[in-house]
Amino acid sequence: MNLPELTTSMYLAGEWTTGSGGKIDAVNPSTGEVLAVLASAGADDVDRAVVSATEALRGSWAAVPPSQKGVLLHRLADLVERDAETLATLESLDMGTPFGFAQALFVPNLIASLRYYAGWADKINGELVSTDGYFGAPTHSYTRREPVGVIAAIVPWNSPLMILGWKLAPALATGNTVIVKPAEDASLSILHLGRLVEEAGFPAGVVQVLPGLGEVAGEALAVHPGVHKVSFTGSTEVGRRILRNSAGNFKRTTLELGGKSPQIVFGDANLEAAIPGLAMGLFANQGEVCAAGTRVFAHRSVYDAVLDGLKGAAAAQVLGDPFEATTTMGPLINAAQRERVLGYVAQGRAEGADLVAGGESPDRPGFFVQPTVFAGSNDQTIAREEIFGPVGTVIPFDDDAEVVAMANDNDYGLAATVWTRDVGRAHSVAAQLRAGAVGVNGWSPLAPQLPWGGMKASGVGRELGYEGILANTEAKTVTVVL
Ligand code: NAD
Repeated sequence: MNLPELTTSMYLAGEWTTGSGGKIDAVNPSTGEVLAVLASAGADDVDRAVVSATEALRGSWAAVPPSQKGVLLHRLADLVERDAETLATLESLDMGTPFGFAQALFVPNLIASLRYYAGWADKINGELVSTDGYFGAPTHSYTRREPVGVIAAIVPWNSPLMILGWKLAPALATGNTVIVKPAEDASLSILHLGRLVEEAGFPAGVVQVLPGLGEVAGEALAVHPGVHKVSFTGSTEVGRRILRNSAGNFKRTTLELGGKSPQIVFGDANLEAAIPGLAMGLFANQGEVCAAGTRVFAHRSVYDAVLDGLKGAAAAQVLGDPFEATTTMGPLINAAQRERVLGYVAQGRAEGADLVAGGESPDRPGFFVQPTVFAGSNDQTIAREEIFGPVGTVIPFDDDAEVVAMANDNDYGLAATVWTRDVGRAHSVAAQLRAGAVGVNGWSPLAPQLPWGGMKASGVGRELGYEGILANTEAKTVTVVL
């Protein structure tokens, strides 16, 4: 792997600058070594960014015609395509996912979001609305869809480019300006994207990238009276704090939070297809996936086969250097995350769950944890709390009503999978699950056309699809009395 040039400064008001919030070490999680020292935004950098974003919102960006906004989004997508290898390398290096995974999913997903919303940019229409008129006079009423304003996009470390694409593309297509706050543990790929934003020719202040600490730069954005919306993806705990901090000026919020997603395998499922699907739901991206299917409910008639299958799938995983072609799982993001995951493994054992695969951190540099499978029950802590690592619990069930009740018996409600050949059962169970996305005989694809978001503690609002347009615009009603 050739190390690409690393961008370490912040993109503020159209300039590359060092911030006032100190420095952040970008650490390679495969080795624990420092890759680069990054600028870190302080509250005064946030203030300056809000001024620049506000000027662009009312001035230079408002002056760009809708179709030209689409052209700029396509141009950015072209540049991401050109630099796809660099972006995938930076993401893999910085957060540990296998390079092939970043290359096959994260970068193409960003391109897809940019192109999808480029197409929307000149199709943001209101509606003509019929009413009973105004005190006997006829009226002409219509709605306008206007930008929300200055949007803070606060991004987690587990797939920065893809998640930023879900926020950035619809926000820009609808005329907003965006201040991006990448996660302190994985800013490098987004900083490179900032370079591409500049090269694409977006006016200064339309997109700014402020690396920084959550409790400093993130907090300053969430409380700022000049920010009109926070689009946040991250933990439920921080989501709750952002909601409280947003109350000051009644910011709009989109909160994409944690998950504890069920994967339900009925007795009639095609296990040949289901086992790899279940394993992907557990181990892809080292289990650092909000939608990870960490509760596997298997009908008692196939329970042993599912457990054996997942044991085999765990054994088949190859932990190692994310840049080796054979590697299927890289390290976790940092030492604290590794300790947290190992802590859950210990708790699972202490509460009586049966460890059937993995459970350890291999003796090597970096923050690796083995793919881990427990046979357990839905009331154990490992089946209730988000672990955010490669740890799953397989739980038996006897009938449909029981498994729907168990699947819904959790604070979270982000995603679910259902494995069955019975089409009636598939639709019925999908309708009963309290989850934002249900996949039947597969995972719900992360496609820009499909709304994404959670119920319950998994979040507020939706990104992507037409929902993404609605979430980034205000509806204004205009009535002319004729
Ligand atoms: P995190 O909540 O710790 O951090 C996310 C972002 O918020 C980071 O940029 C961080 O700097 C910032 N932040 C931290 N404190 C803040 C504060 N007080 N004010 C404003 N911003 C603040 O989450 P993480 O550890 O980076 O990511 C993992 C979490 O993200 C998991 O819970 C996972 O489920 C969730 N996630 C959800 C989705 C989804 O689509 N629902 C997708 C990916 C990840």
